[in-house]
Amino acid sequence: MDWKVTLYGLSIGEEEITAVTDVLRRRWLSMGEQTEAFEAEFVQMLGGAGEAVAVSSGTAALHTALHALEIGPGDEVLVPSLTFVACAAVVLLNGAKPVFVDSKSLDDFSLDPQDVERKITPRTKAVIAVHYGGYSADMGEIMRIARRHQLRVIEDAAHGPFVHTPWGGIGTIGDIGCYSFFSTKNVTTGEGGMVYSDNPRLVQKARLFRSHYMAASSWSKHAGRSSFYDIEGLGLNYRISDLAAAIGRVQLNKHAAGQAVRVSLAHRYRERLSEPVHLPYRQADPETGSHHIMPILLPQTADRVRLMQQLKEAGIQTSVHYLPCHLFRFYQECLETKPGDCPVAEEIAERQLSLPLHPDLTAAQVDYVCDHLLQNLVK
Ligand SMILES: *Cc1c(COP(=O)(O)O)cnc(C)c1O
Repeated sequence: MDWKVTLYGLSIGEEEITAVTDVLRRRWLSMGEQTEAFEAEFVQMLGGAGEAVAVSSGTAALHTALHALEIGPGDEVLVPSLTFVACAAVVLLNGAKPVFVDSKSLDDFSLDPQDVERKITPRTKAVIAVHYGGYSADMGEIMRIARRHQLRVIEDAAHGPFVHTPWGGIGTIGDIGCYSFFSTKNVTTGEGGMVYSDNPRLVQKARLFRSHYMAASSWSKHAGRSSFYDIEGLGLNYRISDLAAAIGRVQLNKHAAGQAVRVSLAHRYRERLSEPVHLPYRQADPETGSHHIMPILLPQTADRVRLMQQLKEAGIQTSVHYLPCHLFRFYQECLETKPGDCPVAEEIAERQLSLPLHPDLTAAQVDYVCDHLLQNLVK
């Protein structure tokens, strides 16, 4: 497909290519000094007092977080329905039960603190707060509820690191923050992820889980630090490669410039779009979001499939974020969830559309998208 305006853009340039070839020339490809530097630079940009552990994906980060918090059989974990399926999947993989939470409103798609509180049982151990689109979830309320009920808080900040909120940067507010560097994300390494915590015990567990609970890594052996290792627990191979970490370090340097473009394009969309298009988060200052995606709600009467086809014919790529997890067949069968369980998420899922938004987009392209969208909506 020859798109005129793609949904995401991959901001990869000569700097990333040079960084990768430099790593290849140095002949250490798996986790090593690039990864250590990437972790340190990531923490510095977060401005947190904790530590970061780079892993092979955002999903691996979430799985590692659940392991570090010792969530397992008999435990329940509250997860929003309106998010990528990874959150619910890792809870089940750990032998625990995901309990789906509704979205807060048609203006804030992240999890509803009231529904969180309603769904707490004596078995509830944790809540995964996903920051939809890179706008902060209601962390003030969620942290208050978590403290009252002694729940652990995992933040899924896959939609954007380096977003400041009154409670701190997203991903640094709860017990553990998880980030993704998948190809479409604001900071990408192709595949990759990060776990962040300011609790040294959790960081230690995350680091060990990432590499089979081996007490010494291949890199430290290569660096001559030790030759033997012991296995101190049950882990996996969730290591990142130094090639990916090297790309990540360049991406961190570029992040501020890309973010500024995203903010200005989000402003442009806000200026151009009004009724019958509903803009969620329009009360929020655009400076306080990562603008990973540009979500809108279509009028209830709109035919979304037809509209997406019409936009496709104009070369405009769109998508839907997300289909609610509680309605996927597997989850309905395994958890006995059903339509009506999360009514706000269900309405959002029926009306939501994601418009193109990335740093390689121009204001003229945003206008082109808005013109076609509005034209086809009134037709
Ligand atoms: C991308 C994403 C993930 C998973 O990250 P991967 O790196 O693709 O494994 C998890 N949660 C959300 C909200 C995401 O957008």
